[in-house]
Amino acid sequence: MSERNRTGVESTRRTSVTGIAPGRVNLIGEHVDYNGGRCLPIALTQVTHATVTPRDDGVVRVVSGSRSWEGRVGRLDEAEQWASYVTGVLLALEVEDGVDVGISSDVPIGAGLSSSAALECSVAFALDEVFDLGRSHEEIVAACVRAEQEYVGAPTGGLDQAIAVYGEASQALLIDFASGSREQVPFDPSAHGLALLVIDTKVSHTLTDGGYGSRRDEAWEAAKALGLSHLALASDLSDLSGALLRRARHVVSEVARVDAFVQALHADDWEALGPLLVASHVSLRDDYEVSCEELDVAVDVAREAGAVGARMTGGGFGGSAIALVPTERVEAVQAAVTTAFVARGWGRPAYILAEPGRGAWIEDQPD
Ligand code: ADP
Ligand code: MG
Repeated sequence: MSERNRTGVESTRRTSVTGIAPGRVNLIGEHVDYNGGRCLPIALTQVTHATVTPRDDGVVRVVSGSRSWEGRVGRLDEAEQWASYVTGVLLALEVEDGVDVGISSDVPIGAGLSSSAALECSVAFALDEVFDLGRSHEEIVAACVRAEQEYVGAPTGGLDQAIAVYGEASQALLIDFASGSREQVPFDPSAHGLALLVIDTKVSHTLTDGGYGSRRDEAWEAAKALGLSHLALASDLSDLSGALLRRARHVVSEVARVDAFVQALHADDWEALGPLLVASHVSLRDDYEVSCEELDVAVDVAREAGAVGARMTGGGFGGSAIALVPTERVEAVQAAVTTAFVARGWGRPAYILAEPGRGAWIEDQPD
């Protein structure tokens, strides 16, 4: 996009551009992205803003709240962990100019709502516009996945970046990781007297048991034992036993639940959704073994207090649960879960009402 600079000369490079990208919550289809399965996330209305301003001295400066990091083009691999989500995108998009990147966000960080992909995608959208890179959305998603996998060094299956870019208001996005296909599925809980409540347990046990990476390895081991490229393709699990059988059983049953969930949404059969959410949680807890006490309590108490269904969401070992709750029961569910946490000596959870929002965009600039 072009604009007139101060001297009135038309320039193709914009001086300052803000990219905006949402967090996400996955409705169902957990730990299936890297297994070639299907999942159904929504983009949130909570978003990250990244304002990118080019500079001509080769300096890269990233500021987010009270944190700031400064380095130079050519030495971006030296970035601190949090700033490497930004420098990783610069590297993946092969931007070789200096930039100021200012970040602000209302996506809770580290709550399993994908603040990381919101950050990457907001930066990528802004860079693409500022430097007129002309990258397709597909290429932006791929660059953001590479940024997180290669430069941050965090395992990510691609779900988070895809929904951050392709999300649409009042829709969930069915993503098939075997074919790469995507389909919008109507999802409007408020039109059915329901709210999607996110319960952030505020705990993370990931560092202590290294869970995500080991589940990924086990899933690949199980697929290999069955002679398959991906576990989601499995139908006969009789050659497996022990932990590998349980991992495979989760993946296969979870993909079937995603399909049933999508069918129910298309049929406007909202009563079918609750039991599918609960079955997903039980499978993640007992077969994939990625839940934890706080998530189990959040799910059980939410249901006792009136949620029609609930489950952990995201990678597990802490982070958030979701509950589908009749609108008039939302306050009662929150109160019951908080009481249960406090009674166990745990910190209070945080709550968000999730609305299906849109994918990444560029902020309009005044002429
Ligand atoms: P999640 O994506 O579920 O929030 P991750 O562990 O994948 O959790 O990503 C969180 C990390 O991403 C943070 O620890 C931080 O390094 C980085 N991050 C995300 N959003 C921001 C932000 N607004 N400002 C600075 N760093 C951020
Ligand atoms: Mg993340």
